[in-house]
Amino acid sequence: AKAVGRNTLRFFDPEMQAVVTSRAALEAGLRRAVTSDEFLLYYQAQVDGQGHLTGCEALLRWQHPERGLVAPGEFIALAEDTGLILPLGRWVLDAACTQLAQWATRPEMAHLTVAVNVSVRQFHQADFVNQVLTVLDSTGTNPQRLKLELTESLLIGDVEDVIAKMSILKEKGVGFSLDDFGTGYSSLSYLKRLPLDQLKIDQGFVRNILIDPNDAAIARMVIALGDSLGLAVIAEGVEIEAQRDFLARLGCHACQGYLFCRPLPLDQFEAFVRRV
Ligand code: C2E
Ligand code: CA
Ligand code: CA
Ligand code: CA
Repeated sequence: AKAVGRNTLRFFDPEMQAVVTSRAALEAGLRRAVTSDEFLLYYQAQVDGQGHLTGCEALLRWQHPERGLVAPGEFIALAEDTGLILPLGRWVLDAACTQLAQWATRPEMAHLTVAVNVSVRQFHQADFVNQVLTVLDSTGTNPQRLKLELTESLLIGDVEDVIAKMSILKEKGVGFSLDDFGTGYSSLSYLKRLPLDQLKIDQGFVRNILIDPNDAAIARMVIALGDSLGLAVIAEGVEIEAQRDFLARLGCHACQGYLFCRPLPLDQFEAFVRRV
């Protein structure tokens, strides 16, 4: 099948596939892509308890010249291994803030927040805080509109440094979510000390929440933890109404998932916002 267009995935014959997916080819491709503008952001809606759109998550896509649209699962790990995540992460921050600044001029878009995924290696750069402040400043973006999604694996490193960096950004108004919560290294005592705003229930717990009592118990625990720490809780990967309703009964009202909207390219996301 060889469909063309920016939203469609293209498939090649297996031989070709083997060539392009080899690690070396992927790395070379990534290197080229970082300098030749092959990345773009998709946006996925985040809704609150009233079903109102509060913002979106920016999700990276690679518009590969031969393979078509490539999802981050295929290249983020390699980008982290090779260090290419550093220029790539900068690009994402810059692109998200540029978009926020543009939306700020449009009444129907101006209230939205954009959540950006930050990888551990990116966050641990000595000048990470400066990078964020510089891009906020140069794009003229209101820091309150920017949210950074961090993962628990950050806590394996220098926690004091993590807290210090987060605190500076937090003071400027930048928000923080702990992504994929419950899947990684968690120390509840550290959790209390991080200047977080939100926990995200990983989609791995949401997927079978209606049939697996263990997943339901974990979701319940994350929600209770959020309550007692004064943090908002959002569930990701919500695909059907019954999952949303179950989570709402547990006390989690904020949601993100295919039920509301798939990750969409800019023009389609803007059209979605106009419709809701
Ligand atoms: P994530 O941060 O946990 O993002 C959520 C993933 O779940 C996204 O996959 C999204 O498309 C997908 N998703 C959203 N709603 C649903 C749903 O209802 N059902 C299902 N089955 N999936 C849903 P995506 O876009 O392929 O991104 C995968 C991961 O790649 C992200 O997981 C994140 O860890 C990473 N990533 C994406 N963009 C960036 C980025 O700009 N920088 C970094 N460092 N990592 C990124
Ligand atoms: Ca995320
Ligand atoms: Ca997540
Ligand atoms: Ca995830």
